[in-house]
Amino acid sequence: MTKKFLLNESEIPEKWYNIVADMPHKPLPLLHPGTKQPLHPEDLYPIFAEEVARQELNQTDQWIDIPEEVRDKYKIYRPSPLVRAYNLEKALDTPAHIYFKNESVSPVGSHKLNSALAQAYYCKKEGLTHITTETGAGQWGTALSFAAKVFGLELAVYMVKVSYEQKPYRRSLMQTWGAQVIASPSMSTKAGRKILTDSPTYQGSLGTAISEAIELAMSMPNCKYTLGSVLNHVSLHQTVIGLEAEKQMALAGEYPDIVIGCFGGGSNFSGISYPFMRHNIAGGKKTRFIAAEPSSCPKLTRGIFQYDFGDEAGYTPLLPMFTLGHNFAPAHIHAGGLRYHGAGTIISQLMKDRMIEAVDIQQLDSFKYGLLFARTEGIVPAPESAHAIAAAVNEALKAKEEGASKVILFNLSGHGLIDMSAYDSYLAGDLTNYDLSDEDIAKNVNQLEKIV
Ligand SMILES: *Cc1c(COP(=O)(O)O)cnc(C)c1O
Repeated sequence: MTKKFLLNESEIPEKWYNIVADMPHKPLPLLHPGTKQPLHPEDLYPIFAEEVARQELNQTDQWIDIPEEVRDKYKIYRPSPLVRAYNLEKALDTPAHIYFKNESVSPVGSHKLNSALAQAYYCKKEGLTHITTETGAGQWGTALSFAAKVFGLELAVYMVKVSYEQKPYRRSLMQTWGAQVIASPSMSTKAGRKILTDSPTYQGSLGTAISEAIELAMSMPNCKYTLGSVLNHVSLHQTVIGLEAEKQMALAGEYPDIVIGCFGGGSNFSGISYPFMRHNIAGGKKTRFIAAEPSSCPKLTRGIFQYDFGDEAGYTPLLPMFTLGHNFAPAHIHAGGLRYHGAGTIISQLMKDRMIEAVDIQQLDSFKYGLLFARTEGIVPAPESAHAIAAAVNEALKAKEEGASKVILFNLSGHGLIDMSAYDSYLAGDLTNYDLSDEDIAKNVNQLEKIV
C-alpha cells in the first residue's frame, strides 16, 4: 500500500490557475477607499509590484505562467508529498480514505513560501532593491525573509511588538535569513512615532504594523510592500498546492469527495480547493469544499457580506468580503494565522454562491485532533493546520456513522515545531474554548458603512 504519492521536479506546475476567469458570478470590484470608485491596477502600482497588481485584478486569463526562475526555486521543496493518512484512519476506525497534502516540508515550515517566492521575484525583476511587510505570528515574515534572500532583496519586517517578544524563534529565523526585524510600533515611521508618543507602552497590532510597512515602502525609492494572504494574487500563487494534488490523487487512483483547508485570510484553502473546483464549475464533479475557521473568529459562518477594509487602520482598498468588521479583536488563540477579521473577495463570492461551505472549530478540538494526528502520522501540525485536521476528522466520523466510503483531502498548511509553547499550554490543561455572543458580533459589523 503506497503511503506517499510523489511527483518529479519536472511536474511542478508551469501555470497558476486563476479561478476568477471561470466563476459564474465575478467578485464585486475593489473600491478606492477615498473615491469609492472601482480600482485599476495602476492605483496599486505605488504600493505593490506591477505584475502582482495586474494579477490582483485579472478576471480573464484562466492560466498565468509561473516564471521559470520561480519554478526553479520551488524545487527546493516542491512538489510536496501527498500522503495517505492510514494510521489516522485506523485510529478513527473509519471507512473514509484520508489524504493530506504536506506543505510543512517547505524550509520555512508552511505554504506561505509559495507566494513569497513569487512576490520577491517580481519585485526583483521590476528593479526594486528593498521590500517591506508586516507579520503577526511570524509565518509570513519568515517565508518572505527566505524569499528575499533567494532573490537578493533587502527586507524590513514590522513585527507586532507582543509577538516580537513572545515568539523569539520566529524572529531568530527571519534574522537568520538576513531580514531586518523591527518591533512595531517603532520610531522608524511617522505612524509608529505618533502611536508611541500617545501611548509609549502600546504592544502593537497588525493594523499598526501594516501602516508602518506601507509608509516605509511609499517613502523609500525602489521599495515596495508585500502581503501574505487575503488578496487574489496570493491565492493564485497558492494554486500550485491543488494542481500538484490533482495529479497525485490520480496516481492514487482516487478523486476527493471533500476538500478541506484551515481558513485565516483564505490563501491555503484557496490553493488546495480552486484546481478541484474548476471541475465542479465545468460540470461533472460534485466535490464539497470546507473551510475550517476558529470559533473565536468566525467570519464565514457568522460574519456578514459587506465592503470592509482589509486592515484595522483602514488603509487598504475596500474589499467586498464576509467580515466581522475591521475593528473586530479576536481572542488570543494559539492559531495566530487564523485571527483575521475577513475573507478574500473570491472566497466571499464563492461562499455567497454556495460553492463552498464553512465550519467553525473550537480551540480545544483543534488541539485534541492535532495531537491525535501527531501521535498517528508523526507530524506535529501547526495550530492553524490542526483546524483542518479537526474538520477532516469530523467528516471521517460522519462517514463512519453513515457507512460511506468517502475520499477526504485536507491541506496540512504547516508544522508546529516552532509553536511548542502552544502544545505545552494544551498539555498542561491551560487552554480554553471561546464563545462569541451574537451581540459581540453585531457590535462590530453594525459599524460598517453599508455599500452593498
Ligand atoms: C498563515 C497561515 C495560515 C492562515 O493563512 P491562510 O491565508 O488562510 O492560508 C494557515 N496555516 C499556516 C501554517 C499559516 O502559516
